[in-house]
Amino acid sequence: MDLNSGKIIDFSIIQKGDLEKSACNYVLNDLIENKKINIRLFLSDRHVGIKSMMKKEFPNILHEFDVWHLSKSLIKKFKTVDVNKYPEVIEWKKSIINHMWYSAQACNGDSKVLITKFNSILHHIKNDHQWRTEEGTIMTCEHEEIPEGVLRKKNGFIHNQNRIMF
Ligand SMILES: [Zn+2]
Repeated sequence: MDLNSGKIIDFSIIQKGDLEKSACNYVLNDLIENKKINIRLFLSDRHVGIKSMMKKEFPNILHEFDVWHLSKSLIKKFKTVDVNKYPEVIEWKKSIINHMWYSAQACNGDSKVLITKFNSILHHIKNDHQWRTEEGTIMTCEHEEIPEGVLRKKNGFIHNQNRIMF
């Protein structure tokens, strides 16, 4: 799919072998060789074979992981959490997923910033809105100060707030 137009520009049906990798390889080669399309960015899930193929066979195309697939993977991980054992984690599920989307949008393509922004939710959940990184940098949440009466702490976690920005 072309990100600018939102249109499907090509697809293929592969019947044998590593389907995802083979289909990507076929479509990319077809777009580049036959349709003379200049591809600058290719998004996929975190498929190891595709990652390796992009590095070896298409080194001039920037390969990034799709946030939708990351989100789907995170949602799957939440399904494995024992709700009775970790009720606070489930309470934060929606905010954590929203925060991942926000972090991906706000990082300007910088993976280090993405990871830092995303990990900040771990501090926020613990009601820790200012912390020091391993490198010694002092980090703070980007939200406004939370009034004392709003926070209800339980088992070391603050309860979910609907409006969170980091
Ligand atoms: Zn915070």
